[in-house]
Amino acid sequence: MFFIRQEELLGALLQLKQALYNHEQWHKDLIRSLVCRLPCDPRDTTGDAHLHCRFGQWYYTAAPEIVREHAAFTAMEMEHKNMHALAARLLLSFEHAGSVATADYDSFANALEKLRLQLHSLIGEIEDSLYKLDPLTGAESRIGLLAALRQIHALIKRAAQACSVAILDLDRFKDINDSHGHIIGDHVLSAVVRYVKTCLRPYDRIFRYGGEEFLISLPNTDLQTAQAVMERIREGLAGQVLTHDGDTPILVTASFGIAPLEAAVSIEESIDRADRALYAAKQAGRNRVQVWGQ
Ligand code: GH3
Ligand code: MG
Ligand code: MG
Repeated sequence: MFFIRQEELLGALLQLKQALYNHEQWHKDLIRSLVCRLPCDPRDTTGDAHLHCRFGQWYYTAAPEIVREHAAFTAMEMEHKNMHALAARLLLSFEHAGSVATADYDSFANALEKLRLQLHSLIGEIEDSLYKLDPLTGAESRIGLLAALRQIHALIKRAAQACSVAILDLDRFKDINDSHGHIIGDHVLSAVVRYVKTCLRPYDRIFRYGGEEFLISLPNTDLQTAQAVMERIREGLAGQVLTHDGDTPILVTASFGIAPLEAAVSIEESIDRADRALYAAKQAGRNRVQVWGQ
C-alpha cells in the first residue's frame, strides 16, 4: 500500500522493456524474411499491421496508465503506425517486384529509428523518476532538490516571477515513534505526503528534505498565496486520521516555515530563511505557519 507508485513504476518499466524486446524480434524476423527471401507474415502487409504485432497489442490493450500518461507514449502511436505502413510497402514491393527501392528502405529505417528513440526516451524518463523518488514516502528525494530550485531561480531572474519555498516539519514525531513504533511512524510519513500532494498544483513539488521534514517548491506563488496554501494543508493534516495503530486513530500536526525565492538571494539562503521561520513556528507552539520576516 505504501510503495504503490514505485512498484507501479517498476512494473511499467519491465513491461516497456518487454515491449521493446518484442518490437526488436519483429524487426529481426522482417529483415530475415527479406534477406532470405522467405514468405513474409501476412499480418505485416495489412493496413492495420500496427495493431497486430506484439508491441501493438501491448500498446493498445495492455500498457498501464502510468505509461499512457507520458507525452512520449502518445507520440509513439503515429511513429509506430507509420513504420508499419512503410514495412508493408517494403514487403509488398519485394513480393511483386522481387526488390526494394533504396528510398523505401531508408524511409522505413528512419521511421524505425524514430520509434526506438521514443521508446528509449520513455524508458529513460521512467528510470529517472524511479531514481528520483524517496521509496518510503513517494516524495522526490533530496538529490534533485537544488537543481529544481535552480530552475525556478533562473525563471525569477528572467521573468520577475514571485516564487516561494516552504518547509514542513511534523510536530513531536519522535513521540509517535515512541508510542506506536517505527512502522506506524513510517505509515504516517507516507500518508502525510499523499495528502500534501492532493493539495498541490501539478507544478508544485515536494521533496523529502530530512527524516520528517519536507521541502515544497511553489513556483509562481507569492508569499501571501504560499501562506494560504500551507495554512490549508496545516488545517487539513491536523483534522484527519492518517492511519490507525490497531483501533487507535493516529493524528499528527505539522509546522511550516515559508520564505520567498528572490533573484538577488541565493537558494541556500532562501532555504535557510524558511528553516528559521519554521523554527519560529515551533517556538510559538507548533501546528502553525510562519512566514520569514513577519
Ligand atoms: P519537533 O516538533 O520539534 O519537530 O519534534 P520531533 O519529535 O518531530 O523532532 P525530532 O527532530 O526530535 O525527531 C524527529 C523524529 O523523526 C526522530 C526520528 O526517529 C523520526 N524519523 C525520522 N525519519 C523517520 C522515518 O523514516 N521513519 C520513522 N518512523 N521515523 C522517522
Ligand atoms: Mg519534527
Ligand atoms: Mg525535524
